[in-house]
Amino acid sequence: MKCLNCDGEKFEVKNTRFNPEIKGEEVEVVVPSFICTKCQTPLMDGEQMNVLRRSAADKYRKEHNLLMSEEIINYRASLGMSQTAFASYLKVGEASIKRWETYFVQDVVQDDHIRLKCDEAYAEHNALEVHWKSNASDIYSGNRPFCLELFKQAVRYLIGFTKSPLFLNKALFYADFKHFQKYGISITGARYVHLEYGPCPDQFQNIYQLFLSKGVLISGGHHILKSIQKPDLSVFSDSEKEILEFVAQIASKDGGQKLLKVSHDEEAFKKTEPLELISYEFSKKLKI
Ligand SMILES: [Zn+2]
Repeated sequence: MKCLNCDGEKFEVKNTRFNPEIKGEEVEVVVPSFICTKCQTPLMDGEQMNVLRRSAADKYRKEHNLLMSEEIINYRASLGMSQTAFASYLKVGEASIKRWETYFVQDVVQDDHIRLKCDEAYAEHNALEVHWKSNASDIYSGNRPFCLELFKQAVRYLIGFTKSPLFLNKALFYADFKHFQKYGISITGARYVHLEYGPCPDQFQNIYQLFLSKGVLISGGHHILKSIQKPDLSVFSDSEKEILEFVAQIASKDGGQKLLKVSHDEEAFKKTEPLELISYEFSKKLKI
């Protein structure tokens, strides 16, 4: 590394004052930089440059009451969303999220939009809890009201075998429907919907987001979910445990590939329309 001013080769790292311009306004930040020991000219490497850009952007944000980069990251994290998911939720490009979470200052309209959409998601979480509690038991819930705790423990148990939400959803479907087939009642009271990827628990995205935000599940990167805590199987009856173990055993062989494949052949799937709730009556014809 050579000084651009005097060709000197000795540097020390010092906190240095810079006055970059953001959206036509000068902001003042103090960040670490290499300083030539001979002529005091600053020289930055890539990482210091990133710190400078982000600090300058955040300084501007603070002065204009805009969300800080970290606040945007926290909003996203608390909703349990990846940058990709967050981008599609906000209907913006993924590149915008990456930039907003670093050095590119969102404008006022974008800032309002982020706040509004995130508050909406929080409101939805609350509404969900009300929705679950008032859920009557009928043929779409397998003759029992939805129980979040049972659903949570079933998720904790089955995610260990299926890893991704895609396969987890199928394992839950088979556990609930199989139990209904044998005993006339589901395990969790969850309702299942005909989605593109097969039968899935109604509102599963919101439920998993809630689990992520409450630390019930953690993201293991790339569509992988994990549970840190062991499932509490004591909440289940013997027959419920037997069915859960039965489904887990099938999933343990191939991570749930077979469950996924067969679920698309089920009448529960073939005889329902996209987005339609699936009646537990279909459990009579289960192929697993
Ligand atoms: Zn120099």
